Amino acid sequence: MNSQKKVVKFGGTSLADAKQFRKAAGIVRSDPSRCFVVVSAPGKRFKDDIKITDMLYACYDKASKGTNFDADFAEIEKRFTDIISDLGLDLSLESEFEKIKEAFVHHAGRNYAASRGEYLNGIIMSDYLGYEFIDAAEYIFFDESGNFDLETTLGKLSPKLAETDKAVIPGFYGSMPDDTVKTFSRGGSDVTGSIVARAANAALYENWTDVSGFLICDPRIVENPKPIRTITYRELRELAYMGAGVLHEDAIFPVRAADIPINIRNTDNPDDPGTMIVSETAESSKYIITGIAGKKNFSVVQIEKDMMNTEKGFGRNVLRAFEKNDMCFEHMPSGIDTMSVIVATDSLVGKEKAVLDEIHERVNPDKTEIENNLALIAVVGRGMRKARGTAARIFTALADARVNIKMIDQGSSELNIIIGVEEEDFEAAVRAIYNVFVK
Ligand code: ASP
Repeated sequence: MNSQKKVVKFGGTSLADAKQFRKAAGIVRSDPSRCFVVVSAPGKRFKDDIKITDMLYACYDKASKGTNFDADFAEIEKRFTDIISDLGLDLSLESEFEKIKEAFVHHAGRNYAASRGEYLNGIIMSDYLGYEFIDAAEYIFFDESGNFDLETTLGKLSPKLAETDKAVIPGFYGSMPDDTVKTFSRGGSDVTGSIVARAANAALYENWTDVSGFLICDPRIVENPKPIRTITYRELRELAYMGAGVLHEDAIFPVRAADIPINIRNTDNPDDPGTMIVSETAESSKYIITGIAGKKNFSVVQIEKDMMNTEKGFGRNVLRAFEKNDMCFEHMPSGIDTMSVIVATDSLVGKEKAVLDEIHERVNPDKTEIENNLALIAVVGRGMRKARGTAARIFTALADARVNIKMIDQGSSELNIIIGVEEEDFEAAVRAIYNVFVK
């Protein structure tokens, strides 16, 4: 049974200054079940502003080179003291600043440096809300290899949260077995929020950010796309792989295993229900498809050989050629006498000849060819499963938009259809698919 408690995580723009702090605190106070608050470091207040995390990295880089970093550090201090005074708090971070500066001088490490944004912001938020401050370094753990250690973390964090009524926990970091601070990758406060939700066995993990959840497709391609109200974890994985941002990819795993939903919400528009990310859902999306995402910059390595389908180990030998060159592949659609291996262009650059030579040596093909400038589009939706005619609608829409389809790959789960088009057709293709299902 999940508890009734909610975990709320606020991103950097939701805590960029005192005005945003007030909104965030108002959201927390408006629902008594919002018990555990995970905070990011102050983010950008305006477009060209610099995030505290980036300021900390830059400042530490100076410190580690032995360059004077006083002015940079003073700017960081000011961002925090401005928030404190604008909120009218009776709080001083002077001794904390001293400690951090001292640690910079003694080269405490980039991870430690970056983590201080969340740490200091957590202290301010706990003071403002009157909630206990729980330092993530004492409750979130990584193993010797630097991988997040769920078991050890739950062993310590779960009992702590069970005996705590309300608390603020800084996001983004934890500690290594030798007690040094380690951060997750960028945007990692999302992961902390998920871990805290799991440890608290929360009813819900609310992730408050600066957008009202996921949109069906990229608003830079389609004007004002409709929002996604509900999405399953698996659909989200498919879309995230294709570049649909908003939530850190690793934030899904801790909560998914415990069936805790994530609700993406907008701090600047708290009445918007946002997007619910759930494990399974009976109801399918109104539009059959849930979302469309895509990326440019793929290459296709085409291999032709008569009767390849009768040759044992053919596919394995082709893939070995990529492995030998330290490359991953993305997709591998194949025909009777042809096989295409799709890779990220960046991973192929400079290795073209080596890969082709290796393929020739291993499988002696009739012909090989590399084609660049491929874009992939993923059309994702639990509603496509068993819905007849979905593929036909997509292909008709693309034909009407005069887009040439270069590749098609449907996952066996019927959850997604991946389409390869020329990069120059990418935007038109996304628009055509959106219009046929959603408009
Ligand atoms: N402050 C960190 C970053 O900028 C972590 C986060 O905000 O989630 O990446």
